[in-house]
Amino acid sequence: MRIVRNKLDWPKHLRLLVNNECNYHCSFPGTGCEWCHKDGVNKTAGNGKRANVEDFLFLAKVLKEKYFLEKIKIGAMEPTLFSGLNELIAGSKELGFKEVSMTSNGYFLEDKLDGLKNAGLDTVTVSMHAFNQEVYRSITGVDGFKRVKEAAEKAIKLGFKKVKVNRVLLNFENVWGDLMSFFNWAAMNGVRIKLYKLIWSPIMDEKQYFENYVSWESLMLYFRKYASVIEINEYLVAGRERLLWRLKNGLEVETDTFSHKLTTEVGKVCQKCKEAPFCLEGLMSYGIEVGPSLSVGPCLLRNDLRLELWDEVRSRDKKGVAQKIGLFLAKTVGEGV
Ligand code: SF4
Ligand code: SF4
Repeated sequence: MRIVRNKLDWPKHLRLLVNNECNYHCSFPGTGCEWCHKDGVNKTAGNGKRANVEDFLFLAKVLKEKYFLEKIKIGAMEPTLFSGLNELIAGSKELGFKEVSMTSNGYFLEDKLDGLKNAGLDTVTVSMHAFNQEVYRSITGVDGFKRVKEAAEKAIKLGFKKVKVNRVLLNFENVWGDLMSFFNWAAMNGVRIKLYKLIWSPIMDEKQYFENYVSWESLMLYFRKYASVIEINEYLVAGRERLLWRLKNGLEVETDTFSHKLTTEVGKVCQKCKEAPFCLEGLMSYGIEVGPSLSVGPCLLRNDLRLELWDEVRSRDKKGVAQKIGLFLAKTVGEGV
C-alpha cells in the first residue's frame, strides 16, 4: 500500500472554474429540489466579470512559477460550455503542467473528445449519479444518461491517461442494484470510479438532505469482502484522506474521508473557524480554486475569505498577483506556504 502525505509540498494543484453555466439542474431524485453547489456561481453572481483563456493562463503561469504547481484541474459549472477550452488546455501544457484534467457532466463531451485529446488533455472525468436512464433524468433534469455513458466509453477508446466517473451517492429505490450495475460497467470498461458523499450547503433543503444522504461507508461490508486499499492520500491542510480501493475484478474506486477541522494540522483559518464543527469539506481541498471572475475561494462555507484577483490579472501585474496570493495563503493555510 502506498501512503502519500501532502502537507509540506502543498499546494500542487490549480483548479480553474472556467464558467458559471450548466445545462443540468442536479436535484434530489424526483423532487426538483436542487443540491448542486454551483461552483463558481453563487460566490460571484452579479459582478458580471468573466475571465478569458489569456487571463487564466497568465494566472496559471504566475502561480506555477511561485509554487511549482504540477496539475491544472478544469471544472466550472460545465466547462464544455466555455469557448476556448482547447486553447486553455494546450496553453497549460505549454506552461509545463504535467497533468491537465477536466470534469464535465458529459452531455456535450463526445463530439469534443478528439479536440480535447489533441490539445493535450490527460484525464477526463464525467459525472453519473445514477446508472439508470430514468433516475439519471430525475436527478439531472436532462435525458442524458446514454450520451454520457457513450462519451466515457469513447474516452477510453481514445486512450486518455485516465477516465474517471464521479458519483455523488444519493438515496433512491434500488440504489444497491444500481451501484452494482455501475461497478460492473466500470470494471468492464476500465473506468475508475470516484464516490462522493454529498456535502451540505446552506442552499439545500434540510429534510431532503437527510432523506437522500448516503455515505460510501455503507459499502464497507462489501469492500471488506471484495476490495483492498492500495493507496492513501492524506491532505493534511484540508483535513481530508483519499482512499484508493481495488476490487477483485480490477475496478478502482476512490473515496474521500474528511476529518473534523479542529486539529493543529489543518489550515490556520480552520482552527478558529465557527463553521468547523459543521464543515464536511476542507480548506482548498482540491487545490487553489479560482472562479470565472478570478476570485479565489478557499471553501464552500466561507465566502468572507475570498480573494479577488481580477484587477491584478487583467492588468497583467505579476508581482501584484504573487504578493496577494502569498498573503492570502499565509492567512488561511499558515506561514511557510
Ligand atoms: S452537472 Fe454539475 S454543475 Fe451542473 S447542475 Fe449538476 S452538479 Fe451542478
Ligand atoms: S468552513 Fe472553511 S475555513 Fe471553516 S473549517 Fe471549513 S474549510 Fe476551514
